[in-house]
Amino acid sequence: MIPLGTPALRALEALEDIRAHVLAESPELAGRLEDLRATSWVDQPPAERAVLAVCARLALSPSVPANRRKARAIVDGLLGGGDEAASAGLPERAAGALKRSLDWICSDSFLRELKACPGPLPAWRLVRRKCPGLGEAQTGRFLVSLPFPAAALDGPRLRWLRRLGWIDPAEKSPARSRDEGLRFLTALSVQGSIPLWEISLVGAAFVGAEGCSGPAVLCGKKPACTRCPARENCSYAIAMSLSVTAGDGDGQPPRRLRESLPAGDLPREKLIRSGAESLTDAELLAILLRTGNGRQHAMDLAASVLRQAGSLRRLSAHSVNELTSLPGLGPVKAVTIKAALELARRLAPRDEAPQLPAVSCGRTVFELVRARFHNKTKETFLVLILNAKNRVLREVVVSEGILNQTLMHPREAFQEAVRDSAAGIVLVHNHPSGDPAPSRNDRAVTRRLVEAGRIIGIPVLDHVIVGDGTYYSFEEAGTLFED
Ligand code: SF4
Repeated sequence: MIPLGTPALRALEALEDIRAHVLAESPELAGRLEDLRATSWVDQPPAERAVLAVCARLALSPSVPANRRKARAIVDGLLGGGDEAASAGLPERAAGALKRSLDWICSDSFLRELKACPGPLPAWRLVRRKCPGLGEAQTGRFLVSLPFPAAALDGPRLRWLRRLGWIDPAEKSPARSRDEGLRFLTALSVQGSIPLWEISLVGAAFVGAEGCSGPAVLCGKKPACTRCPARENCSYAIAMSLSVTAGDGDGQPPRRLRESLPAGDLPREKLIRSGAESLTDAELLAILLRTGNGRQHAMDLAASVLRQAGSLRRLSAHSVNELTSLPGLGPVKAVTIKAALELARRLAPRDEAPQLPAVSCGRTVFELVRARFHNKTKETFLVLILNAKNRVLREVVVSEGILNQTLMHPREAFQEAVRDSAAGIVLVHNHPSGDPAPSRNDRAVTRRLVEAGRIIGIPVLDHVIVGDGTYYSFEEAGTLFED
């Protein structure tokens, strides 16, 4: 683990930017990463491992079905006692070495020995020792395709790490550079919660290694630094004066957001034109996030973060770890959000904190929610989550449609209340007919949820049925605890 000081944060930021760029520009790679994420290296059957090893040896992408078919034929030829050299298309000696490698890769001891390795570097060395048919980069490629926590550090990727300043540019020994690079990437992988094999594949797409080509390639032989999202944090770009003012990018919104919104609606432009107050929570958050995550642009990502957190207030209670557990947020974005929310918290004097609405009786509940049920033609079931002072922390819509005790499971009603450590809840639903008198089913649901609340330790304080300009409160009617 590298200490999360400025250099590490800059490295993580650069990595996140590169990852977002590659995922946006290379949908096939995004699909392959998705597949690999769903795969466990320990579950790969021996025959599959052998196919992946042959793909790595011949620099064939295993995600292409034709490549796999070709590799499988070679494996069958080598292990089936056929004409090894001819089937592998390799010189006789190389085919023999590959066959010996496959023997070990297909053996029972393969997983055992690999699992016993204390880290990616010893594992890489083990495979190098046991597999005479695989070269240095091929070994990394094979492990990455498993997907074992490893990185393939070939020439183009080492050059990339040198340019970014992640390994010593003066180090001439490829072996020492590779060790240093692997150690650095391993630390970044842990810190950024990004699998090492994923960093390796993202790097491959970024530098044009392993047959990757297309718009994702920026850091090839002639780096396209002026288009690179990582240039602010790249030693090479800084040394070549290709970077722009650190911290504010090029003053332009991320490319995809710029493409998908009219210029006047872009959050930064909107803020300059109409002031910060005119921006929604999601727009303000998008400015902090700067970029999206490859699949979503910054605005979509901001909206999805807010949706998952529940609200800005709940987001402000998240720790950095909780923020990084939200899809699309890496440590750099999480730290930025946390810092901004902490500043906001320090600026707001405690006595100016917005007062949450309080509920003290059925009528206050009715007044609070009546507007939202006006002209509703569907039955909607809400839960008001309360703090110890009976102030409403949140409203949660639990169901829409006919209220039915068999459909209304206590889990749905209490799930968010438990998450918010609520002191109590109030149940609310409407009768589109306008008559708030409780039905038999309403009474059954109430009984069930009151009982569940008693068991969970979050009491149901009332159940209010909203009718047309009127209401029914189980608490006021004395029927909340009736059998
Ligand atoms: S700024 Fe240039 S050298 Fe640096 S990572 Fe990007 S493309 Fe490579």
